[in-house]
Amino acid sequence: MSKTKIAILGAGPSGLAQLRAFEALRKAGVKDLPEIVCYEKQNDIGGMWNYTWRTGLDKNGEPVHGSMYRYLWSNGPKECLEFADYSFDRHFNQPIPSYPPREVLKDYIMGRIDKRAIFNYVRFESPVRWVTFDNDTQLFSVTVMNHKTGEQETEEFDYVIVATGHFSTPNMPYYKGMEQFPGRVLHAHDFRDALEFEGQDVLLVGGSYSAEDIGSQCYKYGAKSVTISHRGGSFGYNWPDAISEKPGFDYIDGNVVHFSDGTTQAFDAIIMCTGYIFHFPFLPDELRLETHNCLYPDNLYKGVVFQRNPKLIYLGMQDQWFTFNMFDAQAWYVRDVILGKIQLPDEQERRKDIDAWLQRHEQLDSDEKSIDFQADYIDDLTGRTDYPSFPVHQQAELFKQWLEDKKSDIMGFRNKSYPSTITGTMAAQLPKPWLEIKDDTLEGFMALKFKN
Ligand SMILES: Cc1cc2nc3c(=O)[nH]c(=O)nc-3n(C[C@H](O)[C@H](O)[C@H](O)COP(=O)(O)OP(=O)(O)OC[C@H]3O[C@@H](n4cnc5c(N)ncnc54)[C@H](O)[C@@H]3O)c2cc1C
Repeated sequence: MSKTKIAILGAGPSGLAQLRAFEALRKAGVKDLPEIVCYEKQNDIGGMWNYTWRTGLDKNGEPVHGSMYRYLWSNGPKECLEFADYSFDRHFNQPIPSYPPREVLKDYIMGRIDKRAIFNYVRFESPVRWVTFDNDTQLFSVTVMNHKTGEQETEEFDYVIVATGHFSTPNMPYYKGMEQFPGRVLHAHDFRDALEFEGQDVLLVGGSYSAEDIGSQCYKYGAKSVTISHRGGSFGYNWPDAISEKPGFDYIDGNVVHFSDGTTQAFDAIIMCTGYIFHFPFLPDELRLETHNCLYPDNLYKGVVFQRNPKLIYLGMQDQWFTFNMFDAQAWYVRDVILGKIQLPDEQERRKDIDAWLQRHEQLDSDEKSIDFQADYIDDLTGRTDYPSFPVHQQAELFKQWLEDKKSDIMGFRNKSYPSTITGTMAAQLPKPWLEIKDDTLEGFMALKFKN
């Protein structure tokens, strides 16, 4: 009998979790594991966590994946994404603060990856171009552009695991007058460096994390004023004087924006923090997940198995309170489904299970309930595999504390410390307020004299 073949599309945190799930068995001496090929568009692993100065197209003419920017610090406590089998203490050999910058978190995520082993599976600079499924052979055909050889390659697989992320393709609405605006108009995906907006009046459009965080960064690095325009209710934060909120707007006249409450204001730059679309240009209609950003996309059994074709898996497609440990929980579950350790129920039973989750999802009317919902989802998955159990509900409580801390001091919440739910260690404290620490490098951060 020939070996089962699996294609993993993307080597970001989700794809890496899947590779590690199989690698854990290989290291434990399990034989006859499936053959795995991971196709990655970039020339490194790490997905969104690889900072790139580029915007638009990469050196191969492919859309740049990265949406992360310089000076990005973790937006939630690191204790909520700590791996059960690899603690922060183990990686850094000392307690570090709860909100590290991107480079520090990336160092941690990569710390438990056995690069030599993982790189064996990955074909870099190989964006997936097209995937089909043959009902007769029950095989997928995956075509990729291998930029290293300059040739297209097609291979057949039993399973395809889509782990290409969903925070990369901008949702960019149009407003009348945009084309005449004399300053820069950009999407959050292309925002790289807050210093570019020093001394400027900046308008951010959107009511979610991007607006909140990019607004805070622009303030921190010297924007003259930051205005956040959004249609929802107020963020409820005690913004500093230079940051204000406005309702939605109708049109732009020159550099003046006309808001729906009748007020007007001139701006130097507009940053559209208007979210991302799920974009799978390599998938035909019958295999494509159609969803918006939510905690339980329809048609995914256990949040991962595609209902119309259970040999097609989607990882990390949920909106994310939890990230890395949720990807692990999904990857371990998927591994065991593929290995036949977990039997999938028939289509009807899967539908019932999806509907039960969707019903609960519809009732979610607060951030706190949403956090519990995702914690329960993770619990449901980890209970079905040998993934080391971790106190996901304690982590959920930390998330709730984080929400409170943001409400009481939006510019100061990153000065807070929380205990690890894995080791019990209390995080160190920053030696001075986050607002005053401008260096976001790994070396700069680790050279800070943390207080215990
Ligand atoms: C601005 C921003 C800030 C964030 N901050 C945090 C944070 O502080 N903490 C946190 O936990 N999470 C944060 N996140 C969430 C972040 O997306 C996840 O942590 C994580 O990166 C998701 O992993 P993923 O593997 O699912 O997707 P990604 O990290 O997006 O990786 C997807 C991979 O697929 C590859 N790919 C895409 N298309 C193709 C193709 N056609 N062929 C081959 N490969 C392809 C990409 O190159 C990439 O390597 C943030 C996200 C953004 C956008």
